[in-house]
Amino acid sequence: MKSTLKRTWAEIDLSALSYNYKKIRQHIGDDVKFCGVVKADAYGHGAVMVAEKLESLGADYLAVSSIDEAMELRFNGITMPILILGHTPKEQVDRLICLNITQAVTCEAKAVEYSEEAVKYGGTLKIHIKVDTGMSRLGYICEGDYFEHGVDGIVDACSMPGLYAEGIFTHFAVSDESGEECRKYTDHQLSLFTDVVSAVEKKLNKRFKIRHCANTGATVELPGSWLDMVRPGLLLYGYGEFAAKLGLKPVMTMKTTISTIKIYPAVTKISYGGLYTTDKTTRIGVVPYGYADGFMRTLSNRYSVMTSEGSAQVRGRICMDMCMIDLTDKPGVGVGDEVVIFGPSNPIEKMAQMADTIPYEIVCAVSKRVHRVYICDGSVVHSELMLRM
Ligand SMILES: *Cc1c(COP(=O)(O)O)cnc(C)c1O
Repeated sequence: MKSTLKRTWAEIDLSALSYNYKKIRQHIGDDVKFCGVVKADAYGHGAVMVAEKLESLGADYLAVSSIDEAMELRFNGITMPILILGHTPKEQVDRLICLNITQAVTCEAKAVEYSEEAVKYGGTLKIHIKVDTGMSRLGYICEGDYFEHGVDGIVDACSMPGLYAEGIFTHFAVSDESGEECRKYTDHQLSLFTDVVSAVEKKLNKRFKIRHCANTGATVELPGSWLDMVRPGLLLYGYGEFAAKLGLKPVMTMKTTISTIKIYPAVTKISYGGLYTTDKTTRIGVVPYGYADGFMRTLSNRYSVMTSEGSAQVRGRICMDMCMIDLTDKPGVGVGDEVVIFGPSNPIEKMAQMADTIPYEIVCAVSKRVHRVYICDGSVVHSELMLRM
């Protein structure tokens, strides 16, 4: 693709997103529902564009973390079911009902509040019960001695006026990690979850319509956890070892261009702190990509970007808005040329490992001043900048 004439931009390949969706769909079969996790602006990829694509592909559900994220989708024409995984203040229940947004219910106190508000408003709030089976974050505690109490609490919530319990779910803590211990932990979470669901269903004498727990790791590795619906996030965007296992494609490519090139003699210090000193005559390119765009400063003097003549080393400290790269042995790379920060030619997994983090954090850190350029079948279909203009 030819340069977009932008300073720095993230290309979001909607064809890759479709490809990934279809591959995951093939993997799980037609009987399991698909919930695309589009929280955090679809992991930095743009929630509205990703949701539109998923809706057109026939995905069954979307998951977000807050009512603001859910409203953004509704106000932009997304009509498919949306589940809020996190907390919503009770004052917003009327909004949830009128926008047909599904809310996670994570404990007895919230169930009571939501029920009261829904009754006051005169509507029915669709809920999914969250069970804490070992993540120790949100959800009804049901482990060990808490089992009966947890089950009874869930049964109560399912019977409260103004609430319709469409689903029940839990979240795995280590399903994306390898090793016997982790496998056992996940198996335990899953069996506790199915025990809770059975006990609740028996007491209610009815079956939940949607039981779900599989995040990325479990969607790929643990068919027994798929139940009625899978709920992957990272997998959909094509990063990490599980995406590689299914042969998925990375959706985002971070690109910038070289703004200036200068030649320095040996023994010149480059950037803040003088972290790097040239050892010979050195050709340095200045690139408008810094930590305010999402480039982790810990990668200073270590990371390398991809040019048309191969990888070029970052020299010295990464600044807020720029960084410097070494083009000494790349005479064919000039001002205005494209540079790939990460993407298929420069894997984000490698970048994450070097920064001692995970691909999630890198895509979520892409800041609002980075243009999102949407590509479908090789051409630009939409471009977005999240600044007030
Ligand atoms: C973020 C999240 C997911 C998706 O996790 P991935 O590891 O990206 O697949 C699924 N369920 C819940 C509750 C989450 O918070």
